[in-house]
Amino acid sequence: MFKTLKVPIGVVIALSMSVLAISVAVVTKVEHNNAIEDILLKNTSALSDELARQLAVVMEQSPGNKTLHNKVFQSLRGNPNVLSATFYDNNYRVLSSVEQSNIKPEVLSDIPNKPQSIPFGVTRYGSAMVAHQLIGSSLYPLGHVVIYVDVDGALTQGSKKTLFNQVPVIMVVWILCVAICMLCIHLLITPLTTLKKFTQSVFESKDYSLRSSIVSGNEIGRLSNNINSLLDTIEVELLINFEQKQTLVDQQETMARLANFDSLTGLPNRQFVLDNLRLELARAKRNDEDIMLLFFDLDGFKGINDSLGHETGDLILIEVADRVQQLLRDGDLFARLGGDEFLVLPDRDVSTAAAESLATRLITAFDEPFELRGLSLTVGLSVGIANATDANYDLSELMSNADLAMYRSKARGRGSFTLFTPDMVESHKRKLHLANGIESGINNDEFVVHYQVKVNNNGYIIGAEALIRWQHPEFGLVMPNEFIPIAEQGGKITAITQWVIQRVCLDIPTIKHWASSSTFRVSINLSGHDLRNAHLFDFIYNTFSVNGINPENIEFEVTESAYLENFALSNKFFRRIGNMGCAIALDDFGTGYSSLSYLTQINIDTLKVDRQFVTEIQTSERSRLVTGAIIDLAKRLSLSVCAEGIENLEQWDYLKLHGCDSVQGFMFSKPIPLDQLLTLKAQYSVEEFS
Ligand code: C2E
Ligand code: CA
Ligand code: CA
Repeated sequence: MFKTLKVPIGVVIALSMSVLAISVAVVTKVEHNNAIEDILLKNTSALSDELARQLAVVMEQSPGNKTLHNKVFQSLRGNPNVLSATFYDNNYRVLSSVEQSNIKPEVLSDIPNKPQSIPFGVTRYGSAMVAHQLIGSSLYPLGHVVIYVDVDGALTQGSKKTLFNQVPVIMVVWILCVAICMLCIHLLITPLTTLKKFTQSVFESKDYSLRSSIVSGNEIGRLSNNINSLLDTIEVELLINFEQKQTLVDQQETMARLANFDSLTGLPNRQFVLDNLRLELARAKRNDEDIMLLFFDLDGFKGINDSLGHETGDLILIEVADRVQQLLRDGDLFARLGGDEFLVLPDRDVSTAAAESLATRLITAFDEPFELRGLSLTVGLSVGIANATDANYDLSELMSNADLAMYRSKARGRGSFTLFTPDMVESHKRKLHLANGIESGINNDEFVVHYQVKVNNNGYIIGAEALIRWQHPEFGLVMPNEFIPIAEQGGKITAITQWVIQRVCLDIPTIKHWASSSTFRVSINLSGHDLRNAHLFDFIYNTFSVNGINPENIEFEVTESAYLENFALSNKFFRRIGNMGCAIALDDFGTGYSSLSYLTQINIDTLKVDRQFVTEIQTSERSRLVTGAIIDLAKRLSLSVCAEGIENLEQWDYLKLHGCDSVQGFMFSKPIPLDQLLTLKAQYSVEEFS
């Protein structure tokens, strides 16, 4: 209510002072009245004594001189306090009297009418005083004097005078006291005001290092100390809070870094790049622009990790990040998505040509080997390129398109780039469909084996290769080149291999019967994945036993690369297969490994010259030389040679001339179902083809 305490305190003091002054005035008045009454009593007594004495003297000396008596008595006149006085003789007959003119009747109302009823001496009656005095002695009384004195009048008179004297003094004292009190209060309250201003400035400035300078032993001093202590505490708390906040901010930054950046390469990570890409896609869609995305992974990185250890793998990833970074411009986004997968988001030029040129630069940047720990390692890239419009600006579609394109590059033979085209999605869907249908395909007997005959130099059919097909309920006849890699990736190849082995075992009696040759061999293809399966040998052994198969009627074909990728396991597996009596052929020979030294260490009977060389026999000198060299090599190693893909007589002639033992090709027969195989005659003659 009041902005300052001074006002209520001042009011209280002024009121208190007023009460005090009034109390003093009242007490003084009462005391004063008592004193006046006392004096009046004494004076009245003295006056009546003196008057009686003077009248006694005059009456004794001049008896009967009434005039003189009257004169003495009348000396009372003029006494302001005497209301009236009466001079009686002994019988209370009035001899003389004095009376003021304006006596109020109520003043005398309490006094007895008869003077003889009034006792001697001074008696108080209400607001008046009556003195009854005997003139002369009690033995010889001469008369009586009765004097009526106005007590109230005297008191009123006195009070007025006192009041008149007291009021200015009281006023001055009152003002002085109030002023002194206000000064004291002001002096006492000033430190409080200073403290108030201090706390206000702390509040406004938020500067908790300020301290109150008020030093005193009183309550305000203690309050100031307490405020300073509170500020100490606040300052310490603030410091702790600040440090905690700083720690939190640091932690938040670390977490953001961890969340958004790859700790190995320091590149933005998947999370970061996806968040950015999402925004970029939205922006591009709004502005009707396009975005190009390059997605790549390292060829054979898993092999490096497995053979040289993860530390070397990590070093390569760091080098890859450095190399790619140097090719990019400011503003291009380059991120590691995880493992050996990286992504580049070019900043400005989003044309196909620019993306292709960048992909080429990326690939050629990796021609140079990595020099790590004394090793010289060459790592290639497979790049997939996709754009936002093809993906309808959808992030996951864009990523999956780039992924599809990259896998196309991988399938095409690595170190290459592929631009995404919408038909890849269809083929991907087909792939998925096939992958998911393999198991049910086996259970529903959707797979079939076709046989392609192998012919010796005399045109006799000496064997047949079992080649699987899938009679798919939706897609029709699906060829193995399409579904075998899918089955390999999906881990379902062994089921297929086992199915083929079983099928062949069931067909062998019929084929043997048709071929009427005890050395007739049926070839079964094995995948690289089969060689890693520890149970396959047992399966083969058991299936042969159950079906009464002579292992000498069976040949297993495995590609050169599959054999060498699992060299130790393959050697072990084929040694056991060979010991059992089966023949072993190295398929697609000449396409993969350039080092031939391993040939002396492996357990095979036949080299199968890859179809590519046979196809080019008439057109390529190089192919002719390679084919000749393979046959020559096989002879030196005491291996037989089979050439596949013979489509014309010229090819067959060339192969026969160079010592190839057997051939296989459309010229003789395409792979055909068993019932058709059984219709073939046992020997082909050259004349048939000329
Ligand atoms: P491959 O083992 O090299 O089989 C030979 C392939 O060449 C067969 O293709 C065959 O039809 C084809 N071919 C034979 N002669 C000629 C010719 O004169 N001209 C042409 N253009 N092609 C000829 P197919 O049956 O499509 O098999 C492709 C590949 O699928 C096989 O190559 C083999 O690697 C794999 N494969 C087939 N069946 C199986 C199987 O049961 N298991 C496994 N693991 N792989 C199989
Ligand atoms: Ca084969
Ligand atoms: Ca082959």
